[in-house]
Amino acid sequence: MTPPKPYTAKLEDKAQLNERFVQYKFELVTPNELQFSAGQYVSIKVSDQGVRRSYSICSSPAVMHGFELLIDHQPAGVGCTFLENLQFGQEIELLAPLGVFTIKPDQEETEIALVATGSGIAPFLSMLYERLQVDQDMRPITLYWGMRHANLLFWEDEFEVLTQAFPHFRFHPVISQAEPAWPLCRGRVTDCLNTHEQPAGVGYYLCGNAAMIADVSKTLLAKGVSEAHIHHEKFY
Ligand SMILES: Cc1cc2nc3c(=O)[nH]c(=O)nc-3n(C[C@H](O)[C@H](O)[C@H](O)COP(=O)(O)OP(=O)(O)OC[C@H]3O[C@@H](n4cnc5c(N)ncnc54)[C@H](O)[C@@H]3O)c2cc1C
Repeated sequence: MTPPKPYTAKLEDKAQLNERFVQYKFELVTPNELQFSAGQYVSIKVSDQGVRRSYSICSSPAVMHGFELLIDHQPAGVGCTFLENLQFGQEIELLAPLGVFTIKPDQEETEIALVATGSGIAPFLSMLYERLQVDQDMRPITLYWGMRHANLLFWEDEFEVLTQAFPHFRFHPVISQAEPAWPLCRGRVTDCLNTHEQPAGVGYYLCGNAAMIADVSKTLLAKGVSEAHIHHEKFY
């Protein structure tokens, strides 16, 4: 993997996806190319005192002149506020690429299950671009994404395009406080995982808050899944 180094990048665009989530697009300034593996993250300097915050890259590793981030603004702390106040064209300092939360080669895992809650979806969009579009990985890939309310979901168009183009990709949004009319999985992501057969050889990739990771790991271990096939990125 490429060793991390310091970069500067400027804010090129941002999109308010809903009341809570914002997608940021950065263009690299120096150096002007970033090679990374899907699942890696950047560490951004968010204060003059040198406070840093980590954010997973959600864009495709095929795009090397910039990167995109998906931010949950609910914590409303120093990191969120720094990003929220950035002006277009303003430069940031970061270290990248960081982390080892990447998909393992196919001789080790014959199927892939991606399990996210909230902003934990960020590295998975990058992984889907990498697996499906860049590497043309033919392994079955299932994405489970938990959110409290359906109106907080986003990227449905992206997932729909991928579902249509790649029949071996399946997407299950899971809503914990669903309206009665919600037609898909409801409850916690583990409830949805439990309704599907989990064959041997699946590699599980979990991303989100600590409670979700503990809950899903416990469920998988109880089902006999080996610890070696449970990978996670804890956001907090
Ligand atoms: C490897 C890694 C990758 C990450 N990737 C992303 C990402 O892609 N998108 C993203 O939005 N965040 C991501 N995070 C979380 C991010 O780094 C910050 O922790 C988060 O943005 C909050 O920072 P803050 O400075 O705004 O809040 P802080 O000032 O740190 O905290 C403010 C308040 O919010 C609470 N809080 C802090 N973090 C969270 C959280 N994640 N969820 C709920 N409450 C919280 C704190 O207890 C505190 O009360 C990642 C974290 C790690 C370690």
